[in-house]
Amino acid sequence: MTDLTIRNITKRYGALTVIPQLTLKIEDGEFVVLVGPSGCGKSTLLRMLAGLEEISGGDLLMGTEVINDRPAKERDMAIVFQNYALYPHMTVAENMGFALKLRKRPRAEIDERVDKAAAILGLGKLLDRYPRALSGGQRQRVAMGRAIVRDPQVFLFDEPLSNLDAKLRVQMRAEIKALHQRLKITTVYVTHDQIEAMTMADKIVVMNEGRVEQMGTPLELYDRPANIFVAGFIGSPS
Ligand code: ADP
Ligand code: MG
Repeated sequence: MTDLTIRNITKRYGALTVIPQLTLKIEDGEFVVLVGPSGCGKSTLLRMLAGLEEISGGDLLMGTEVINDRPAKERDMAIVFQNYALYPHMTVAENMGFALKLRKRPRAEIDERVDKAAAILGLGKLLDRYPRALSGGQRQRVAMGRAIVRDPQVFLFDEPLSNLDAKLRVQMRAEIKALHQRLKITTVYVTHDQIEAMTMADKIVVMNEGRVEQMGTPLELYDRPANIFVAGFIGSPS
């Protein structure tokens, strides 16, 4: 069971409260998109989920288990960032297998999992290449491959497409969605792009100043925005 429950989560940086008592439930297998203006706390929330940032109050649960104090590497979540720096001195296969190597998995298992992820992502012919010989979209796929090989219970994406050009972004949206349809891994996807949110989400969470303004399906938010902020955010061009 990989429902994620964010219960009264608070985040403070010194005297500054960035997230005051945020509560959110993400169901097993859902693709949830967090949207909101720059600085509203999207990355902070994702990093707290991943265990990369301490929480100042509240509880995080996976299923029924409180994971507040569980170290990042034991959370069984894979995070893909905007600046998905690949290791330049490693091939695609080595990049993808590295996390498993660190976890001392046997060679045969690493190869098998890398091959499987590469097939899913259309990287089969590129496994021996180095990152410098890849296009932006191919690098992005390798970054996703590094997450997939770990076979995580949860995927976390932090604006993974914002470094790509518009055409590639549209293509990668579809690819990430297809991947989700296939693997059904619970996904929390952060973007500040409302078109991306509308086209990708099972549910959208609209955030503003560390608060949830509304959570709902794209249609619900479009048809029945809870307030003027949501209406403005969903309705405006990116
Ligand atoms: P978003 O991802 O929605 O753009 P962030 O989660 O990155 O927003 O940031 C939310 C707020 O927290 C911002 O006001 C930002 O300046 C602040 N913030 C983020 N990280 C730190 C930090 N390490 N120290 C102090 N303030 C921070
Ligand atoms: Mg951010």
